[in-house]
Amino acid sequence: MCRYLGRKKPEGIPDEETLLAFRFSQATRTFASGHAPDVKAAAATMARCGIEEIITFAKGHDGFAYYPSAVGTVHPRMKGDAFGDFTKACKKKDIRVLAYVSFGIDGEAGRKHPDWVQVGIDGAQMNDDWFISVCPFTPYLDELMLPQLGEILAWYPVDGFFFDTMGAMGICYCAWCEKDFAQSMAGRFPVTNTMMPGVSMERSAAVAR
Ligand SMILES: [Zn+2]
Repeated sequence: MCRYLGRKKPEGIPDEETLLAFRFSQATRTFASGHAPDVKAAAATMARCGIEEIITFAKGHDGFAYYPSAVGTVHPRMKGDAFGDFTKACKKKDIRVLAYVSFGIDGEAGRKHPDWVQVGIDGAQMNDDWFISVCPFTPYLDELMLPQLGEILAWYPVDGFFFDTMGAMGICYCAWCEKDFAQSMAGRFPVTNTMMPGVSMERSAAVAR
């Protein structure tokens, strides 16, 4: 899982526990407690342990941004700029940072834009608090995802992205896909039962809010 690349291994840490990539979740429970994470202390501890690269949350499955996004939905309980502060603290310690972005699942995008939700053969299945599979062939891509990536690139010294939930995107029968298919193929989408798009996982977005 972990390794040191040209760095001196700290005392007392066995070789097999050196870290190459570390996934750090800006846990919503931390925000709910009313305290901003101590990112400097976290970065210092990770550097001391020899961690060289992390993946940290810029946008989660629920669609909440962990930075003050102008185009997305900022985590309602976040104080300050957890992603940005943590990224900068890590970079000061020479730790590489990949921005975690939930791509195929965005609960807030689905709640606010029902026409962006993936539609299965039984229709879109969703309620107010699901982690919702969104369709990249709707305006989701141009109006939210790409602008958010632009914000992250413009505002933070990230080394790359980790796009998660790409597997949440399946065969989609939303109005946008139906229209695209009709224009390209001059016919209606053939209905198949090989995938189950619409909604992926029900989780605890209500708790996060
Ligand atoms: Zn679609």
